[in-house]
This record gives sequence, C-alpha cells and structure tokens, in this order.
Amino acid sequence: MLDQVADIISKCSVGAVLTGAGISAESGVPTFRGRQGLWKKFRPEQLATMEAFLASPEVVWEWYNWRRELISDVQPNPGHHALKEMEEFFQEFTLITQNVDNLHRLAGSSRILELHGNIYRNKCADCGFVLDDDMDIDPADIPTCDKCGGRVRPDVVWFGEMLPGDVIEQAFFEAERADVFLSVGTSALVQPAASLPLVAKRGGATLIEINPERTPLSDLADFSFQAKSGELLPDLVKMVHDRKEGADRR
Ligand code: NAD
Ligand code: ZN
Repeated sequence: MLDQVADIISKCSVGAVLTGAGISAESGVPTFRGRQGLWKKFRPEQLATMEAFLASPEVVWEWYNWRRELISDVQPNPGHHALKEMEEFFQEFTLITQNVDNLHRLAGSSRILELHGNIYRNKCADCGFVLDDDMDIDPADIPTCDKCGGRVRPDVVWFGEMLPGDVIEQAFFEAERADVFLSVGTSALVQPAASLPLVAKRGGATLIEINPERTPLSDLADFSFQAKSGELLPDLVKMVHDRKEGADRR
C-alpha cells in the first residue's frame, strides 16, 4: 500500500497536509485527550476559553506558562522532518497545522498555515494587537497592550472562537486544488479543520490518512495507515525519493 502511495506522490505537483496533535506525540507533547491532558484537574475545555480568562486570567496564564515550559525543550521528531523533506517532491506544498507548538517551524517547513495560532505568540485580549513572542508573563501581573490597555493573552484559538479568517480561507483554497492530501495525527473531529480532507477529496485529491487509531476519515480516505507518523512518514519519503532518483537516471 505504501508503494502505491509513493508512486502517486512521485507524480503529483500540488500537495497539502493537515497535522494535529498526534504528529507531536512522539516528541513528547501530550495531546489534549490523553491522561496528561488534565492539569490540576482542569480540562483544557475549562481553561482555553475567553470565559476562563475573564474569570481567572491568572489561572489561565499559569496553565499556558506550564505548557510553554513543557514544550520549551521539545524537539521535532522524524515525522516533522519528513514533512519538511516532502516539500521537494512537489511544485507547491502547503502544511496546514492545528498545532500551536511551533515544531513544524523548528523542523524548517517553509509554507505553514497555523489554524490555531502559536503558543509562543501573545496578543491583546481586547483589540487583538499581536505582541512580541518570548515575553515572560507573570500571572500575578499580566502585562497590558500598548495600544488599548487590554490584558495580554496567548495568540491561540480558544474553544468557541473563530479561526483566523485569512488562514482558514487559504487552507480551504489549498485543499481544493491539491492533487494529494495527507491527514496526519488528527482525530478529524474538530471543525472546520476536519472538513479540509473532505474538500480535498471532493476536489479530486488522493486522500491519505496516518493515525494509529481509526477516525471518521478512515473509511473515506483512499489510503488509511494505522501507524505512527514518526515511523511511517520517513519510510514514505525515502520511497518517493528513490523513485524520483530512478526517474532522473532514466
Ligand atoms: P486531535 O484531536 O488532533 O487528536 C490527536 C490524534 O493523534 C488522535 O487521533 C490520535 O490517535 C493521534 N495520534 C496519537 N499518536 C500518534 C502518532 N504517534 N502518530 C500519528 N497520530 C497519532 O488532538 P487533541 O489532542 O484532541 O487536541 C485538540 C486540539 O488541540 C487540536 O487542535 C490540537 O491540535 C490542539 N493541541 C495541540 C497540541 C500541540 O500543539 N502539540 C497539543 C495538544 C492539543
Ligand atoms: Zn489592545
């Protein structure tokens, strides 16, 4: 099956991939749904919301500082690196991610659409003005916006919030025109990202899923691999590489 996918990729010119928390699992970043997703007995759904921030901004910031700390010395894994290498097989390749952990940037991917923001960035909770990253936030003394005096919050999409319009629009555009679309490490449940693979398939793309567990997408995908992305993606990249080299020699 992987052979067939390598054949298809080696002949396509527009590629896109959607990644979720699963691609970073092998780097040691906990997914929200795992047991480690619980922090001081709060669920992410209780912390990653504007309601929580308005009610207890210090608790929300303590949680984000903990998450920043948790991923501060985490490195991209072979799955992230393979997706960077995949760029060279296509004329155009877009990486769409639901992750906020910055690991695709660290791996060097060039065209990244971050649907849910980036945990290292900060913005104003009132006017949205984006502030410097690398700001240390003291939960007991949250800095305020230079423009309007609003409190600073992380620049991520919280539950109940809209995704950044230009980013999601671009993601749908790329999904629609892709020849091949990979869905990697995402439960394919959270909208609107979960629609991207469907839009790609409707637009004629070959749809490939990589996830150790079955998802609502598994039956719809042209190829569904129940595997870890850090193990399967490097194999796939190597196979496409060999085909491209073989074709060059001929
Ligand atoms: P999710 O809904 O994207 O689910 C994670 C998926 O990854 C599951 O389907 C699981 O089977 C799969 N998976 C686990 N290990 C894998 C591996 N080694 N290779 C491939 N797939 C693997 O993510 P969630 O944790 O339920 O989070 C919901 C939202 O919060 C999403 O937007 C998510 O991206 C975000 N989040 C991001 C991070 C991060 O930035 N690393 C971490 C936690 C949550
Ligand atoms: Zn402001």
